[in-house]
Amino acid sequence: MQKQDLLYAGKAKSIYKTDDPNFMVMEFRDDTSAFDGEKMEQLDRKGMVNNKFNAFVMQKLSEAGIETHFESLLNDNESLVKNLEMLPVECVVRNRAAGSLVRRLGVDEGAELNPPTFELFLKNDALHDPMVNTSLCVTFGWATEDQLADMKRLTLVVNTVLSELFKSGGMILVDYKLEFGLFEGRIVLGDEFSPDGCRIWDAETLNKMDKDRFRQGLGSVIETYEEVGRRIGIEF
Ligand code: UDP
Repeated sequence: MQKQDLLYAGKAKSIYKTDDPNFMVMEFRDDTSAFDGEKMEQLDRKGMVNNKFNAFVMQKLSEAGIETHFESLLNDNESLVKNLEMLPVECVVRNRAAGSLVRRLGVDEGAELNPPTFELFLKNDALHDPMVNTSLCVTFGWATEDQLADMKRLTLVVNTVLSELFKSGGMILVDYKLEFGLFEGRIVLGDEFSPDGCRIWDAETLNKMDKDRFRQGLGSVIETYEEVGRRIGIEF
């Protein structure tokens, strides 16, 4: 597979065309952003760590029967992925209250959420990713009712698989965000799963082991990502 022109550069990843229109190269850069790009830094080894983290998790999800866009690791910073037609909607599941849920509803950080919640957000930096619902998605054509039902079902299967995986490493999967796209008409998991897009706490100390370390200036960001990875069996 031959890597070709840059197609799109996001805040932390770049996407390149290949000579096969069905596949793309996803490059994980060291760039780290928070607050819709207001806080930006380069963190040494971050691209490599997130690339390998994502590859490992996507393979676990694939083994559990979830179709993902991940094909193979190409090198430290790049993976080969399927070319999905992405839907502009983010799916968020929460097992504990944190982040925007705490800010929005005034509940205590860490409160257990039973059953876990499922939320939809529109991908739109200028509008700060507003919360939406099924009705708005269908009316504005961001996704169909059936696609949204598939996304919700798959997002909750991911919760079962990954909550267990992180638990085995002495950690709590607090919340996470997933993005889906269409491949040959099917809903397929895209984007990435890494400590950039989820919250993970140590089960004993409740220490934050995810991008909140960067957002809140807690330090040791990438060292902690690697610690999370090692605990679930990733070799960097
Ligand atoms: N998240 C993300 N990208 C976004 C928004 C949220 O990866 O654009 C992740 C975030 O890291 C967390 C979960 O989705 O794991 C829920 O985020 P929340 O709604 O609490 O918003 P935040 O506090 O991150 O602003």
